[in-house]
Amino acid sequence: MSNNRVLIIDDDKRICRIIKRVADDLGVDSLAIDNPAEFESAYLRYEPNIILMDLQMPRLDGIELLRKLAEQHSEAAIILVSGMDRSVLETTDELGKSLGLNMVGVLNKPIDIDDLKIILEKNFDPLKERRTQSLALTAEDLKKAIAENELVVHYQPQISLASGNVIGAEALVRWQHPEHGLVFPDSFIPLAEESRELIGPLTYSVIETVLQDDVARRGSGVELNISINLSPRLLSDLSLPDKVDGLLAKYQFDPNRLLLEVTESGAMEDPSLTMDILTRLRLKNIRLSLDDFGTGFSSLVQLYRMPFNEIKVDKSFVMKVSKDKEAAAIARLTVDLGHSLGLEVVAEGIEDQYTYDWLKELGCEIGQGYFISRPVDVDQFSKWMDDHSKFTH
Ligand code: C2E
Ligand code: MG
Ligand code: MG
Repeated sequence: MSNNRVLIIDDDKRICRIIKRVADDLGVDSLAIDNPAEFESAYLRYEPNIILMDLQMPRLDGIELLRKLAEQHSEAAIILVSGMDRSVLETTDELGKSLGLNMVGVLNKPIDIDDLKIILEKNFDPLKERRTQSLALTAEDLKKAIAENELVVHYQPQISLASGNVIGAEALVRWQHPEHGLVFPDSFIPLAEESRELIGPLTYSVIETVLQDDVARRGSGVELNISINLSPRLLSDLSLPDKVDGLLAKYQFDPNRLLLEVTESGAMEDPSLTMDILTRLRLKNIRLSLDDFGTGFSSLVQLYRMPFNEIKVDKSFVMKVSKDKEAAAIARLTVDLGHSLGLEVVAEGIEDQYTYDWLKELGCEIGQGYFISRPVDVDQFSKWMDDHSKFTH
């Protein structure tokens, strides 16, 4: 953490003090300046890796500062802080990106201390580095990992918002890498998707692990729904429904308890082939969930023709419900749309009590998110369920 240096530029001394105090609390070094004329020399002297900047200042505005940073080829993470409305902030954010700057977010004034902490931590959290840095993983490594069972499945609970009871879990794959530690799916799913030789075996290995874990769970009297993510690439594999069905039969898993999650954009690449496969999965009583709803570009007309049972409101909206009116409007609309189409609605990415209560009030059936639990390994998941049931009953 000692490598972090946070530079704050705001003509409002109070804001400087607030941010500085938060940086102190987080144990990182910071420098606050309230005179924009000093910005350039402070930047050169201090070499910050994180910059928080006000947009409106006398004499020098934020946009001019961004230009100066671009001239210096700054790689610092830049956070805009302003009381301006969102469209101005976002346009400025875009402008910064087009100048090649590392724009990492915007903070609205009055500053929410928790948001500030989150955005700061995100930009010096070593975990984040691990998630995003290129690990130079190859298809060959991944193939070996699948064969040598280095892939593990974590579970994130899904609960009924009305009753608080656990009704299921989403299975999320991770790679327990001998050198890099726990690698998250964003770092290797795209690699797997480059070839059907990899994404097929990866997916079937996840399904098989889930089914084995479920046999053990059933042994202790617990039957849950399990959601598994299906790569769009597999929606053109006509053998998929029979393969999945074969695995379910092998472990005597009731197909009604399996939900396969598909993304909206993925579902639409070849609508007639996708329709064929999805319909056959439905005929085998496997349920289908439309993941990440709201982020794709597909048409609603295609969507309502596909045989989904459930839609998941994308976490990018749910995470912002408590602080962003527009995001809340999209989340609300998605819940209503799901209900109008007769589907169950899952909200993923619930991070606070306010959002939990708000969704419950809207009649959203199922909730998932860090506020309830992070994804955890199979043993932690069963412990979590024990504690949770003591709490809800
Ligand atoms: P997804 O299916 O949308 O999964 C939800 C992701 O959101 C998970 O990230 C989960 O950890 C994260 N999440 C859940 N609640 C919260 C929250 O409250 N706040 C925040 N900030 N994040 C939350 P994860 O595990 O890194 O997975 C990322 C994506 O990788 C998944 O997105 C899914 O598209 C893909 N994926 C995961 N497992 C598999 C798999 O077995 N097969 C395939 N094809 N894709 C997978
Ligand atoms: Mg998912
Ligand atoms: Mg999702």
